[in-house]
Amino acid sequence: MSEFDLIQRYFTRATPGTVLGVGDDAALLSVGDSMQLAVSTDMLVCGTHFFPDADPLLLGHKALAVNLSDLAAMGATPRWATLALSLPSANEDWLEKFSRGFFTLAQQYGVELVGGDTTRGPLNLSVTIMGEVPAGVALRRDGAQAGDDIWVSGALGEAALALAHLQERIVLPQAILSSCTERLHQPQPRIALGLALRGIARSAIDISDGLLADLGHILERSRVAAEIQFDALPMPHFLRSLGLSNSAEEKIVQRCVLAGGDDYELCFTAPVTHRSGIEDISATLALPLTRIGKIVQGGGCTVYAADGNKMQIKEPGYDHFA
Ligand code: ADP
Ligand code: MG
Repeated sequence: MSEFDLIQRYFTRATPGTVLGVGDDAALLSVGDSMQLAVSTDMLVCGTHFFPDADPLLLGHKALAVNLSDLAAMGATPRWATLALSLPSANEDWLEKFSRGFFTLAQQYGVELVGGDTTRGPLNLSVTIMGEVPAGVALRRDGAQAGDDIWVSGALGEAALALAHLQERIVLPQAILSSCTERLHQPQPRIALGLALRGIARSAIDISDGLLADLGHILERSRVAAEIQFDALPMPHFLRSLGLSNSAEEKIVQRCVLAGGDDYELCFTAPVTHRSGIEDISATLALPLTRIGKIVQGGGCTVYAADGNKMQIKEPGYDHFA
């Protein structure tokens, strides 16, 4: 059973009291007439999401960053968070660093920590983030339409490449290792982009499990299909000049770009008429925004190689239970 079948079967019920329930990057709750609350939870588990000896300063950053990323994908302004911690012991050095990493990022985005829970147990970090968005303005997964351009922010695959290096599946040259590990340990939530895309993007998602898996959620919820050009994907520039030693390594790179997790970039769709507006946003934010393909009628995602042939993709992304 996949992670998403599990959620669908056991935890998805009618939510008549919400604007949007299970199935998007955040739920949307009406608490007044004009504004909606966007709420999302993301958990980091020792051994699954990070190594036991991970730097607590970076963990504090990442625990909040992955949650902020979901609000970015909704076009919401971050406001409040709660933090549920399960800790093997009260290690003060660890706690000082973890809280410093958390609050440094919280301050940057004006997030107030307003509650949580603390217990003894296996190391487990769970954050619930709350933000606000004017009613009817949130970027959702279900708004893509045939004819839309598909865009991606930043570059894809660096975090997954860093992980592949740490797991000794690939050897990255020293010169690029540090930028890749920074992407893995210190993702930068694309909050400013999410806000700028209000009224421009028709759908959006953050890429946490891999481009194809996450774009797949937009396609399912919007009941459309996508055509992607592999050569158009915003790969880190060093990849093209890496001179990969063998085809096994080349395959790993391909998989990291198409299906690697932990990028925390935004994937969004927008009408063709907004192309120049989106290029302006890219310039203002000094953040590359790349057109990677288009939405078409039908279902599923087709990736075309440079020679025009369809690429066969075995694993579209990370699934905790597949
Ligand atoms: P994301 O990657 O954007 O954080 P997920 O893939 O983790 O989203 O979850 C997909 C959707 O399922 C989200 O809307 C999330 O809120 C919901 N969800 C995940 N786990 C549960 C659960 N145990 N109970 C209810 N909803 C859940
Ligand atoms: Mg998400």
